[in-house]
Amino acid sequence: MAGIGFIGLGIMGKPMAGHLIKAGHTLYVHDVVRAPVAELQGQGAVVCKDSKEVAQNSEVVFLMLPDTPDVEQALFAPDGVASGIRAGSIVVDMSSISPIATRAFAEKLALAGVEMLDAPVSGGQVGAEGATLSIMVGGKPEVFEQIKPYLEKMGKNIVLIGGNGDGQVCKVANQIVVALTLEAVSEALVLASKAGTDVAKVREALLGGFAQSKILEVHGERMIKRAFQPGFRVRLHQKDLNLALQAGRELGVSLPNTAGTQQLFTAVAAEGGIDLDHSSLVKAIEKMANHAIGGEKGDR
Ligand code: NAD
Repeated sequence: MAGIGFIGLGIMGKPMAGHLIKAGHTLYVHDVVRAPVAELQGQGAVVCKDSKEVAQNSEVVFLMLPDTPDVEQALFAPDGVASGIRAGSIVVDMSSISPIATRAFAEKLALAGVEMLDAPVSGGQVGAEGATLSIMVGGKPEVFEQIKPYLEKMGKNIVLIGGNGDGQVCKVANQIVVALTLEAVSEALVLASKAGTDVAKVREALLGGFAQSKILEVHGERMIKRAFQPGFRVRLHQKDLNLALQAGRELGVSLPNTAGTQQLFTAVAAEGGIDLDHSSLVKAIEKMANHAIGGEKGDR
């Protein structure tokens, strides 16, 4: 089997890389942090000193990095993927980053005869560990067909959205819906709680009707149980909403409620919640209500 590379072995990347090892691939891995690399080495991965060495050994290189500048560095720094990769190889970026930068990265790699797919995911740590991620792909159909068997080891709902960058556009749309639903669930539960109503019963009743959603189910429970750690960190959702607002500005699309929800994340971050799960958005609504879910009326 061909050598496969994986760069970025954090909360998401480590279990995703693990699935590729279990499928029998020789995996060449790199992360700037040592601990997850050592863990994957124990599972049979080959550790590389930099992204260039990963690319020198791989026909397909996966990236799962935090943000746009991290992907740019891993690809184009002097010790990056582009300096080691052979023509005919494929880069698959599974990070959630800027659609505009993604298109520029794909064009730059194409000059070296290298194809790129953007393949951001939804489903969180649970989806990464259970190989049930939703994967939104941008790139050429024939490249997608080549890479699909690998993606099937990491996810279930795998959709080719369009050309380079369109997977990232889809992910941005996903994050708008998730953020605004978190905000709606927060308002509903804080109102119910301050009214003195049993919020657990409210959630249970709403789950059977039109207000049902995965966010109400999973994150509504986290808000009620005050289980804000670990999860999808506020700092990552702030990054994603920045991408949405930036795209909106460039395209002339007003996103008023995305902007407002970003302000609520800023309030949570200002109180030290930047690494809490994004369901902690409820804390901003609680602050304005002077009431925390489960507390006495007027408590916070
Ligand atoms: P993370 O911070 O846990 O992991 C990122 C890893 O990349 C870290 O181990 C870091 O050391 C490494 N890294 C950073 N720069 C590097 C470089 N230049 N070279 C090599 N390694 C480098 O982040 P995560 O939670 O795994 O998220 C990764 C991406 O997936 C993000 O874009 C995020 O928005 C997206 N995402 C995350 C979740 C989630 O629930 N955590 C869900 C869906 C999508």
